Amino acid sequence: MPVAAKPQVWFLTGSQHLYGPETLARVAEQSQRIQRMLAGSGLISVEIVWRPVLADGGAIRQALHEANGDPSCVGVIAWMHTFSPAKMWITGLDLLRKPLLHLHTQLNESLPWAGIDMDFMNLNQAAHGDREFGFVQTRIGVTRKTVAGHVRDPLVARRIDGWARAATGAQQLRTLRLARFGDNMRDVAVTEGDKVEAELRLGVSVNTYGVNDLVALVDEVTEDEIAVLVAEYADTYLLATELRRGGDRHESLRYAARIESGLRRFLTEGGFGAFTTNFEDLGGLRQLPGLAVQRLMADGYGFGGEGDWKTSALLAAVKAMGEGTGRGTSFMEDYTYHFGPGEPKILGAHMLEVCPSIAARQPSCEIHPLGIGGREDPVRLVFDAEPGAAVVIGLADLGDRFRLTANEVQVVPPDEPLPNLPVARAVWRPAPSLSTSAECWLTAGGPHHTVLTQAVGAEPLRDLARILDVELALIDERSTTDEFTDRLRWNQAYHRLAQGLR
Ligand code: MN
Repeated sequence: MPVAAKPQVWFLTGSQHLYGPETLARVAEQSQRIQRMLAGSGLISVEIVWRPVLADGGAIRQALHEANGDPSCVGVIAWMHTFSPAKMWITGLDLLRKPLLHLHTQLNESLPWAGIDMDFMNLNQAAHGDREFGFVQTRIGVTRKTVAGHVRDPLVARRIDGWARAATGAQQLRTLRLARFGDNMRDVAVTEGDKVEAELRLGVSVNTYGVNDLVALVDEVTEDEIAVLVAEYADTYLLATELRRGGDRHESLRYAARIESGLRRFLTEGGFGAFTTNFEDLGGLRQLPGLAVQRLMADGYGFGGEGDWKTSALLAAVKAMGEGTGRGTSFMEDYTYHFGPGEPKILGAHMLEVCPSIAARQPSCEIHPLGIGGREDPVRLVFDAEPGAAVVIGLADLGDRFRLTANEVQVVPPDEPLPNLPVARAVWRPAPSLSTSAECWLTAGGPHHTVLTQAVGAEPLRDLARILDVELALIDERSTTDEFTDRLRWNQAYHRLAQGLR
């Protein structure tokens, strides 16, 4: 079955045959109007596909079975326009494997107080139809998101969009192939994890390749391919004089282009959507890949340094969620602190690999020594991150489960220019404060490698965690260390109980 260019969400409407064909025709017409209002809002990134009204258990089973089997369908919205006796939904919901959003709305925004009669009542009864549906979902334990409100309300449309983006991210993970060049950085704990559990829980398939498999492709790159990329670099970035044609270090730029071209071919031919590198294992590579990794991230690839496949997979998912927002998402690492004067802040960066999708201005393309990896000086893009709201999110393996730790932050301009820092960076104020944020993050065992996103907010990330059935510990304006620590303890109990015996 071919996959549609745009992810699709099916819009399902529940009713029953008791109302007769005439009423059901009106139900169908009204539910199409709801679908058109959502699609026409301009606020929803997926295609909302209207499906015929469901009025009996066989049709419900069939529709949900088809949703499971359609790779274009990333999730299902259900709305009970009228009363749809929910025992009809039990076997269908039980077999549903796609994310579910229960939309609680009605076509009429206002009550026609003077004109209201029983015909109006019978056509606008989601208020109790959806309660019947809510009961059966809770009774059988269906994970879902519930959104209540009139579909004309932009907030309702935005929340549906956030969930649809989460469903798209989950779908990306379900089919994600991730290539690791080498293993973890030696002795590092947090980048380790259970790859079998990750494939079962998240879907991502993580496999290691010898870095010299990549080197073989890098060595095969042609002069023409290099020339095309070098010209693109000159057009796209502020190219350092020494890297330009005729400059002392031009050959290094050409080698960076060679890495990019070889790496792209490796990922494309293998069907990979994410990858990791390890500076301790560079085989025949002459530079640690910097520019190539930055540009591949900008194209939507997941990446993690030091063999960090969990962050790489998470980045691929969050990038899929942020598609089309015009805002960026990057691999990130909490690097160093500013405790004061002024407001405390975190400076995040990495050795090289920060995605230019978060750049405030045109990046400069530079070459500097790197005291790590023991290779030739690597080429990299240097920039400050765009100020604005963001979320930092990290994925850790706690042994019995995965935990996402997230922090709402505000990216801010650096207090002063950073002329001697030869890497791209982001400076942010974490909520609620640097000390509380760090205390909570450390208590949660959150990783130092993260994904920083300006494209996706906390609510869609929570939706993603719920869809994946992974714990999310969110640090926000309201967090206190004590409350957060208690929450982690309740979560611990909940997740161990929910896991059951296996
Ligand atoms: Mn690192």
